[in-house]
Amino acid sequence: MTTSAEPGVTFDYAPAPESRSIVDIKASYGLFVDGEFVDGHGKAFKTVNPATEEVLAEIAEADDHDVDRAVKAARRAYDRVWSKMPGSERAKYLYRIARIIAERSRELAVLESIDNGKPIRESRDVDVPIVSAHFFYYAGWADKLKYAGFGEQPLGVAAQIIPWNFPLLMLAWKIAPALACGNTVVLKPAETTPLTALLFAEICQQADLPPGVVNIVTGAGGTGQALVGHSDVDKVAFTGSTEVGKAIARTVAGTTKRVTLELGGKAANIVFDDAPIDQAVEGIVNGIFFNQGHVCCAGSRLLVQESVAEDVLHRLKRRMSTLRVGDPLDKNTDIGAINSAEQLARIRELSDVGEAEGAARWSPACELPSHGYWFPPTLFTDVTQAHRIAREEIFGPVLSVLTFRTPAEAVAKANNTPYGLSAGVWTDKGSRILKMANELRAGVVWANTFNKFDPTSPFGGYKESGYGREGGRHGLEGYLR
Ligand code: NDP
Repeated sequence: MTTSAEPGVTFDYAPAPESRSIVDIKASYGLFVDGEFVDGHGKAFKTVNPATEEVLAEIAEADDHDVDRAVKAARRAYDRVWSKMPGSERAKYLYRIARIIAERSRELAVLESIDNGKPIRESRDVDVPIVSAHFFYYAGWADKLKYAGFGEQPLGVAAQIIPWNFPLLMLAWKIAPALACGNTVVLKPAETTPLTALLFAEICQQADLPPGVVNIVTGAGGTGQALVGHSDVDKVAFTGSTEVGKAIARTVAGTTKRVTLELGGKAANIVFDDAPIDQAVEGIVNGIFFNQGHVCCAGSRLLVQESVAEDVLHRLKRRMSTLRVGDPLDKNTDIGAINSAEQLARIRELSDVGEAEGAARWSPACELPSHGYWFPPTLFTDVTQAHRIAREEIFGPVLSVLTFRTPAEAVAKANNTPYGLSAGVWTDKGSRILKMANELRAGVVWANTFNKFDPTSPFGGYKESGYGREGGRHGLEGYLR
């Protein structure tokens, strides 16, 4: 806690590291195909701890042959077992997986923080509990599909490709609804964060899930391409960059494959002059610095009403000065490591462009560790709508601040983006919240809060943020016919 009114002055905290002895990281990992770990035919690659650059393990890189083997296993399991099983029986497996995740939550949280760089506070209190909740939630749907309104038949084999920002959470968003509806899956985790997906494979074994219902193929973009292009895949579900999403849409065009795409964002977080300012400042901080800003729905554009802009910025800077950047396994840490050297380079480049284009850059004084990938919490003022930092997804702890005078101007600026994933509104007036929510072209609009996730709420975008919804009843639509 800090009592200082001056930026940069905080009390020192004693270190409070979470022990990593609970996780057992193997020297090397194979692919999970047909219920077993098998060797891949391709090369191996290394996964590193982004906070230390320590090599954690060697991971098999699945080639076309391995992907084919995984798709065949998924097809067999679909034809022979999973699509024929009553929903009430499928539900039992999902409930079992949900319970095992809850039982092994500390192990999953520590492993996620080590492989991804996110603070243990977030993996422990946000990611893993929502992962378990997601399996519980969709277990409940498995025997009630006829009431969902999207048909009762599964699609078949789902190819699922996920990014590195929420490795286990994105896995849950993909696998839980697919399995509940009777589909089988082949999932590719991101190259830099494969470890929790491989631990999830062990959980599938522990839950006695029939072999082939879940298959995990690790690898890089080439593995993803082979999976998307495989002729026996019925459904492609992708979360990641808009660029790769477009490439996937091109690959499946003209085929019968169904597709859902959850892509990038550049969300506006809009603060009106009647908002409770301290609460809004917490929401701004949570909106952009949660998970190092590696969040597709991050509130990366702050739109603040001109009459309160000075006050908001003053309090925001003071609050940013209390954020602790460092060891992801320390329970006091607010901002962990940037996930990879490539992502760090991208954040640096776009921030440099922001300065070069004339925006004013500010970060609190903060000491960064000497090893690993780090970036301080940063904000830019004097930003115009034409600046690249106001238009492109930076995917890091970087906030662009713009101002507005009227609600109409706020809406116009918020919607002036190729994306449409999320938005936030901070105001005292319920009627204004409802009006704004109607006018903002964003799949999710948070009111007086930000980055709240719940398995019962649908999530997804408009425009270049993709199509299809994940979560809630709507999340079943992409897996039923
Ligand atoms: P990508 O879109 O490349 O990665 C997402 C997933 O797709 C990964 O599993 C990746 O594998 C895989 N992939 C890569 N190329 C292909 C392909 N041609 N066909 C099929 N699958 C593929 O994102 P990056 O990790 O490269 O991040 C780049 C930028 O994208 C970030 O800076 C950020 O702006 C944005 N991004 C947005 C996300 C979001 O949720 N909106 C999530 C992640 C990134 P591999 O990991 O091996 O590359």
